[in-house]
Order: sequence, then structure tokens, then C-alpha cells
Amino acid sequence: MKKKKADCIVRAEYLLPMDAHLSVMTDGAVAVGDGKIACLGKYEEVAARYDSSTIIGGSDRVILPGLINTHTHAAMVYFRGLADDLPLKEWLEDHIWPAESQWLSPEFVSDAVELACLEMVKAGITTYNDMYFFGDAAGSATKKIGIRAVLGAGIVDFPTVAARTADEYLEKAGEFIERWKGDALITPCIAPHSLYACGTETLRKARKLADHHDVPVHIHLSETQWEVREITSRYGKRPVHYLKDIGFLEGRVLAAHCVWVEEDEIQLLARQRVGVSHCVESNLKLASGIAPVIRMLDAGVKVTFGTDSAASNNDLNIFSELSTAAKLHKAVSGDPTALDSRKALLMATRWGAEVLGLGEFTGSIEEGKAADLVVVNLGKPHLTPIYDIYSHIAYSVRASDVELVMVGGKMIVKEGQFCGDDESGIMSKASQWAEKIRKGRQMQDAQ
Ligand SMILES: [Zn+2]
Repeated sequence: MKKKKADCIVRAEYLLPMDAHLSVMTDGAVAVGDGKIACLGKYEEVAARYDSSTIIGGSDRVILPGLINTHTHAAMVYFRGLADDLPLKEWLEDHIWPAESQWLSPEFVSDAVELACLEMVKAGITTYNDMYFFGDAAGSATKKIGIRAVLGAGIVDFPTVAARTADEYLEKAGEFIERWKGDALITPCIAPHSLYACGTETLRKARKLADHHDVPVHIHLSETQWEVREITSRYGKRPVHYLKDIGFLEGRVLAAHCVWVEEDEIQLLARQRVGVSHCVESNLKLASGIAPVIRMLDAGVKVTFGTDSAASNNDLNIFSELSTAAKLHKAVSGDPTALDSRKALLMATRWGAEVLGLGEFTGSIEEGKAADLVVVNLGKPHLTPIYDIYSHIAYSVRASDVELVMVGGKMIVKEGQFCGDDESGIMSKASQWAEKIRKGRQMQDAQ
């Protein structure tokens, strides 16, 4: 039989396709052609069918699908470490929002998103779900790095540098969607910030706009007890019931946090197929609480992992999110079998893609899907010996162990290094912005 040509063959000691069986292949390989997975299996089988002059990877390696970060505000990497050890409301209102109103611009977002994407891709994240402003700048910067994003056009009821009224945000969101729909890497979506920052009319209009364009909605939901008290006193019902009653849950919704949800709300989230982004490190750091992840999973809710912004985390690292979550929920539930390592990686990959509506073409390594994959180097003291590869992914691998990252068949990280030529430029732009932000704060403090 004549062999077919592949653009490259990625080979490793372990291959975790994250398919329906959560199979583990040893001495596995993936043939990549036209940006897609052409074939996968044992190296010998793949090599019998496909030929390529480029064979990468090798022993002491594991191939897994690119990780999916289902909730972030990428541009906020420039506010990393700006204000820490504060409650959410004070952190937002006294530090983050004032800094945003002073600095946000398309230039800021473009430069910051490049840094965020660089950080994410070097940590094995190939798709992220964002909520912010100046989506055109974010989209271009993301494409420059070469990863995928679902970019939510932020909507609030109050004026910011991005728009003045809810209707203006909505109008801009519609135009943004028109511009980006059909892009190979960027999926536009609508992101009303939260129930406390958007009134009923705005949420209804956001739902309608999302339906009109057939795009997902991305929102913060029940992150703090303050929020639940506020919404309950405004509308006489808890947040999830309120959203159900205004028709907001009729359609695709990705809800970030869901820390303070009661049993009947969890059942509603499951029934309405709302995807949940669990941002465990942000919730811990802001002392927002601990989301009832095990109860949500038991009810059938697809829970996935988000970093939230680097200002509340303080990094964009899904390996550490899944590790923290897998340990925390064992302690909280008193059950060491809860959130096992296989489930944790499933939530960080295939489920992440599915809740974003991208499950058809990314999130797992299966024939015909996009070649979005990660190779981790296992030849490290902290990864030796190996009895169960899933255990290592959940409890021992560090983001810095990522050796190779491919998105749509294109090599973005090789030998742990970014393949683009501008890493130092991205870093120096970040330092220049930080200098301006630091001086701005000093001037404010002096006033
Ligand atoms: Zn957030």
C-alpha cells in the first residue's frame, strides 16, 4: 500500500487523545496534514500509513489535546500584581476599574493580549474564552500569536472608555460579530458582564443579539455572596432562577464561577445545559468561596476550567487550575476519589471545547479535528517514575514542562520556545506599559 504524505508526525511514549474512552496509547503518534489530525494510533501503525520528513517528539513525552481556558480577561495581564490581598468588590472598584478607565485603549489591549497569549500558549493553552473590550485589537493580537479564542464583546450598563450606554455596547458587539464571524481562529461572542452590571433589559437584548447571530453568551454568575444578596433583593429571586425567568438560559451560555448556587439552581443549570467555568484559584485568592463542583458534576453540569484574569490569579495556567481543583474538591467533599485525574483532564480539554461550541473541531485528538495539541516532556525529576500518566498530568506536571504546542497544525511552541520572532519585543512592551502604569499610580497617590 502506498503511504500518504503527512506534514508531520508527532510521536511520544504516551498519547492521550481524550476520546470517549479516555484511552491511553503507548508509543503513540499523530499524523498531521492540512492543519488537521490525519491519523492517530501506535507509532508503527501510523508510520505504516503515513510518511513525513518531519517526525517530532520521542520517548519521555506525552501528547495531549491543547488545553482550553474557558474564562479569562486576557488583556488584564498588564494589571498582574497591581492590587492583591483584597476583597473582590474593593479590588474591582478601588483598583481594577480605575486602572482600566485610565489605561484601556486598542493599543493597550493589543499589546497586553499578545503577552497573555504568549503566556497561555507556552503553558499548553490553545483556546481561550475571553470577556473584555476592544475585541478587534484582541482578535488581531491573538491571531498574531496563532492560538484560538472565543472573544466576548463586553457589555455593561455604565459608561467606560469602550462605550457610553448599554445600547452602544450592544451595537458595537453586533458589528464586532459581523466582522469576525467565520474567522479560522477567532469566534466572536457576546459577554454581558454580570447580573449586577447589566439590568434585565440589557440581558434580554444580549440574549436576542446572540440568538440573531447564533453565537454563545459568556457571563459572570453567582461569584460572591454579595452578588447573590444584591440580585435577590433587586428581583426577589436567586440569580439562576432570575436568568431562567427572563429567558436568558434559552440558548448557549457559558457561566463563569457559579460559586454560590443552591441545589435547585444546579438542577436548572444542568437542565438548561449551561456550561460552567470553574475559576478555582481566582475564587480562592479573592476569598469568593468554593464552587460546589462535585455536586454540579453529579447533576450533569459540564464544569470546565478558567483562570479568570491574571490580576486575580495571578497567572494563566490551566495545569495549576486543574491540579488545585482536583485536590481542593477532595478535601471539601471529604472524598479522596472525587474529581479524579482523568475527569480533571477531560474538563480541561474536550469539555472545555464543547461548552464553547467548538467541540466539533477541537478539544480532543481525533481524526478530522484540528491539530491542536501539546507535547509535555516527562524526562524530569518531578515526573519520574511514571505509573499512571493521568496522575502526572493532574498532580505533577508544570506548565514549564510544555515542550511543543501546535494549533491548527502550525507549530507555535517548539523545544519550549515560542516560534514567533517577537518574544523579547512583547516582553519589553509590557515593561514599558508597566512603567507608565506605575507612574500613573504614584501621581494619583500624591494627589
Ligand atoms: Zn472574570
